[in-house]
Parts: sequence; structure tokens; C-alpha cells
Amino acid sequence: MSQKNGVSRRSFFGGLAAAIGYIGLRPESLWAQARAATRRRRRAWTTEAEYDALAKLAANENPYGPYDSAMEAMNHAFKYANRYGYPDGNIQEKIAEHHGVDPENIMLGAGSGEILRVVGMTYLQDHKKVIGVEPSYGSVYRHASGIKADAIKLPLLPDYRQDIPMMIRAVKKHYREVGFVYMCNPNNPTGVIVTKDEIRRLVDSIPEDVPVLVDEAYHHFVEDPSYETSIPYVLEGRPVIVARTFSKIAGLAAMRLGYAVATAETIRRMRPYATGSTNALVRWGAAASLRDTAEQAKVKRITLELRKKTTAELASMGFDVIPSETNFFMVHLGRPVAPVRAEFRKRGVLVGRDFPPMLEHLRVSVGTAEEMDRFLVAFKEIFPAGYAPSAG
Ligand code: PLP
Repeated sequence: MSQKNGVSRRSFFGGLAAAIGYIGLRPESLWAQARAATRRRRRAWTTEAEYDALAKLAANENPYGPYDSAMEAMNHAFKYANRYGYPDGNIQEKIAEHHGVDPENIMLGAGSGEILRVVGMTYLQDHKKVIGVEPSYGSVYRHASGIKADAIKLPLLPDYRQDIPMMIRAVKKHYREVGFVYMCNPNNPTGVIVTKDEIRRLVDSIPEDVPVLVDEAYHHFVEDPSYETSIPYVLEGRPVIVARTFSKIAGLAAMRLGYAVATAETIRRMRPYATGSTNALVRWGAAASLRDTAEQAKVKRITLELRKKTTAELASMGFDVIPSETNFFMVHLGRPVAPVRAEFRKRGVLVGRDFPPMLEHLRVSVGTAEEMDRFLVAFKEIFPAGYAPSAG
């Protein structure tokens, strides 16, 4: 992940900076400026140097960045930066081949975030509702309220699993109002999976025309053999939409590429709501990342090793950690997370935001070994020996 075949990260980002500089000459709309200002205000840092120095454990990113193979492919693709119709590494075909489906079963998006929005736009018209659990990846619910739709948010079970029988009952009860079911698997922020048997039970029990959006952003980190991707349901012709991303395992979050796997009919229905606009570089980078199974395995191995080491240390200090199948975990603090997050920030460590109603659980992304050391040093300062959260 450092340097390979003479293509350096520096030359890549040098080119990118030049491209961004050029775009920056164009006038921005007032609306975009206002939005950017709001975003800037919310950030926990002000300068680039300050950002670079932080241990970034708040957004479940891959701290190692794109694979060397992806960097090389993206450098190669820079020559298309001024084009519209250009060779794109056949990314759609490559993804389809990877999953054993047809290209017409794939829809690309600017991150899987775009896919989630497209599903909302498609299925939540006429004030339909999305059913899912809370806490989960909240952007689906926020988007629903933004388009004047609504969400039915079900509580998690005491062991933080998703309550599938309750979900089935809710779908049946609200059948006429339900736009789709949202299932984040594994769930963000808990890191807990829904088993393949539970998903089978869900799709077999709800009315067959209710779409189920399964968000598999963290699929690549799962070890539990009772988990399985939901892509086979697409092959069965069910209205199941699987969302995947290159942001996590492939370290391409800022490059923005995700995709949906769904039946051709579902993709056709969603197509009008997608921008259809992803950049040339990431298409090539993603195609290279898909092929690079050695790097995928390496990221998974290092990440899980660090997660296990860090969570074992927290457990030895008397803290309960929710068993996670992802590149993040939740630790129970026994007191509100918000002031604790501020303490971490003072020590240069960014940790996860609030996830109501789990306001005493801190979500921590697995960063590099150095970042996890910084996290543990800060943790021990904030929670000196003798603090007994598990009693709370
Ligand atoms: N889904 C889940 C569960 C996530 O955690 C995230 C990002 O953190 C996304 C989707 C969106 O990711 P992206 O738009 O980068 O693919």
C-alpha cells in the first residue's frame, strides 16, 4: 500500500490537486457555499495540518487508503479526466462478473450513499414509510424525512441483534404504507450481523412485493459463518436490493463509488433517480481493487487483529464491548458519550458521534496500529483504573 511500479501517491494527488484547483475557479452557487460553510462549522478541525494529525476513528474508514494496484489504475485513468464517454475499466461488467449476475443487475452510484438515496426516492413516494431498526445507518431515515416520507424505527434486542420477528410483524401491520425495509448487515453502529437464516425468514414472511434494501457496506470484514450476502435473493428474482461500497475494504471513500445489485426491473425503476455520474478515476481504481484479493485479505486481517487486540484490552479494564463483525466496535462507557468524545478530541483522537438511544456506547473505528495506541492512551487517561462501567 505504499509505492508500486513507479506510481507514487504523491504524483497521483499532485494531479488531483491540479484538477480540483481548476474546478475551484468556477463560480459556486450561493446555496453550495452556504452548505459548505455549515459543513465546515460542524467539523472538529480547521486546518489541513490539524486534520492530518488527528487519529481518525470516527467514520469507519480504511486508514490505509487505496491499494497500490488501484493507485496505478487511477493514475492511468487521469488521461480521461477531460472526457465524458471514455473507457472505464468495464467496471459495471466486472462487478456483475464478480457477483455472477448480469450488468443490467448493477447500478453504480457516487458511493453507496447515493444508492441508499435512490432507493428512498424510488420507493418512498406518496408518503410511504421505511421500516428498519434504531440505531442503524441513519442517512436512510434522514433522507426519508427530507422527502416528507417517514420511518418506522424498531428497537434492537437486548443483545443488540435486529429483531426479525418484530420486523416481520411491523411490515405486515403497515403493509399498505411500507415503501421498503432497510436492513444494515452488519449493522452500523453496533457491528452485529443478521444471520442468513434470519434474512431468509424475513424475505419469506413478508408480502413478496415489499422491497428489502440490504446495506452490506461492511460485508468484507465479517468472519461469522452464519452470515451470508443477500445477493442470491436477487438471482431468485426477489425485490431485494443489495448496496455495496468501495469506501471501506478498498479504501476509496473520498473517490466515491458504490453500487446496487438488484433485479433488472428494480434497476430500471430506480435508474431515473440516479445521477449516473461517477468519476473516471474511481471506476478504474475500483476495477483494480476488485481484482486485488490479496490486498483485500490483508486489510481484513490487519483490521480484525487490531480490533481484537484493542477490544481485549478494553475488556481487561472492565468495559463491555459489543462483539463486532466489522472494522469498528462499540464500547459501553456507563456514562454519556458526548463529553467523553470532547475529551478524546482534546487528545487529538476523533471517535464516533451519538447513536440514540445508545447514548452511553462509544463507537470506535479501527484505525492503524499507531492510532489504536493513541486511542488506548487517551482512553486510560479519561477512564483511570478503578472506574467500573459494567456495573452501570
Ligand atoms: N452504509 C453504511 C452502513 C455506512 O456506514 C456508510 C458510510 O459510512 C455508507 C453506507 C455510505 O458509504 P459510501 O457512500 O461511502 O459508500
